[in-house]
Amino acid sequence: MARVVVLGAGISGHTAAAFLRKWLGKNDEVTVVSPLPHYNWIPSNIWVGVGLLSEEQVIFPLAPVYRKHGIEFKQARALALHPEGTESNPQPFVEVEWTLEGKTGQRENVPYDFLVNATGPKLNFGATEGLGPGKNSLSVCTARHAAETASAFLENVERMKRGERRRFVVGTGHGMCTCEGAALEYVVNLEFELRAHGVRDKADVVFLTNEYQLGDFGMDGLHIRRSGYITPSNILAESLFAERGIDWITRAHVKKVEAGHAWYETLAGEDREISFDMAMLLPPFAGVGLQAFGRQGEDITARVFAPNGFMRVDADYVPKPYEQWRACDWPRYYQSPVYKNLFAAGIAFAPPHPVSRPFTSPRGTPIFAAPPRTGMPSAMIGKAVARSIADMLRGAPGPTHTASMAEMGAACVASAGANPLKGTAAAMIVYPIIPDYERYPEYGRDLHYTMGEIGLAGHWIKIVLHHMFLYKARLRPGWSLIPE
Ligand SMILES: Cc1cc2nc3c(=O)[nH]c(=O)nc-3n(C[C@H](O)[C@H](O)[C@H](O)COP(=O)(O)OP(=O)(O)OC[C@H]3O[C@@H](n4cnc5c(N)ncnc54)[C@H](O)[C@@H]3O)c2cc1C
Repeated sequence: MARVVVLGAGISGHTAAAFLRKWLGKNDEVTVVSPLPHYNWIPSNIWVGVGLLSEEQVIFPLAPVYRKHGIEFKQARALALHPEGTESNPQPFVEVEWTLEGKTGQRENVPYDFLVNATGPKLNFGATEGLGPGKNSLSVCTARHAAETASAFLENVERMKRGERRRFVVGTGHGMCTCEGAALEYVVNLEFELRAHGVRDKADVVFLTNEYQLGDFGMDGLHIRRSGYITPSNILAESLFAERGIDWITRAHVKKVEAGHAWYETLAGEDREISFDMAMLLPPFAGVGLQAFGRQGEDITARVFAPNGFMRVDADYVPKPYEQWRACDWPRYYQSPVYKNLFAAGIAFAPPHPVSRPFTSPRGTPIFAAPPRTGMPSAMIGKAVARSIADMLRGAPGPTHTASMAEMGAACVASAGANPLKGTAAAMIVYPIIPDYERYPEYGRDLHYTMGEIGLAGHWIKIVLHHMFLYKARLRPGWSLIPE
């Protein structure tokens, strides 16, 4: 009997746990440790954030799903890994603290033979003074945050209906954020809803981003060949904003947010300020702060985790100048180089380096988009790790399945306004996610497989994806046939 423990029940961890259960033997145990009682289909938080969906429509309780499928669920937060066990017992274990009502605060050591760390990001609002829910700006990173944002948005709409003018600032709340695509999706949905509510003429909408130029998305932008032209993504994003009257500010590091004001430093080193009536600013990401200890209780966190808290895996972490970064620096198996039964899936693994060219202001403040951490690769990594563990338990000497972001494409459908007749969404495919200038010297990507299209059909596809991925996550019949 083998014990496999998955930390985190997000897109990556939930996928890994479901496939582990499917591929492991009946006597093998699969345990999920995650602090929240529910699963959140995060991409649809965008629609929650403008009041089109309720919080309940993008979440569901995990315990009944896991009970039905024979997966043990501990509603708890992982605190520390002990990959060598203790002096008296070499069995590896993870120390967890329960968050389940009635057991809150209780600690437990959960033993494992294999461990998948899929704890996603720490939403690091603390990196910017005054940033985040409960302080001076809003977020759509969790379903709860998005519901709070919707309330603020609808309150502003009511004020505009009474004749007041309002300014909405949407974007990134720090110079080292990622997920600019989600911020862009939110701003175009917000603008669309302002029109739907008949108050667009009363609103100023500004996109504030750390990207060097719009459409960078932390992947150094992309190029799309259409009608004989090769168009860079900054042109596509700028046209979208120009069409909709959305202003934009790029190369900005937000350093402080107060009620109604954000202060930011530009890449040119200037200090600027922008006022707002509502601001939705994403936080930078960090690892969730897991620690690691050796057999004698010595702290080995720095061996297992990078300084930003993400877990080191089979990537090339040797620092190099931008010009020397290579696609093959990116991990393929997501296995810890120190402990062979330890894997990191989804956002939890440490990227070897950014993808976009790094810039710093004259004061030395880094201002550029951090590497993309999107859902499709997170799920594909979870599945590949599950397959490798299943094979290793059957005797394979090492991991068998790869999911390098430099070898895989990703599809993304970004909503640009939700309406069955007038809505639009941008459907994009990028191959590979991490540019590979050795294989594709000109643009780093294969332009036969990198494409984008915006239109009403995209909106319908986005609706289908919302229902299909929630169906899959509920592990309903045929779930494993639905692609990641
Ligand atoms: C608003 C928004 C919209 C997005 N839209 C898209 C989109 O349209 N398409 C797309 O591809 N991607 C999108 N993304 C990105 C996508 O959501 C992420 O790539 C994906 O969620 C990453 O999966 P993950 O499992 O690594 O992390 P998560 O999904 O964040 O899951 C992490 C899990 O770990 C748990 N956890 C945290 N700490 C601990 C701990 N200490 N111990 C145990 N468990 C822990 C969490 O509770 C959670 O269950 C969007 C992101 C945002 C914020």
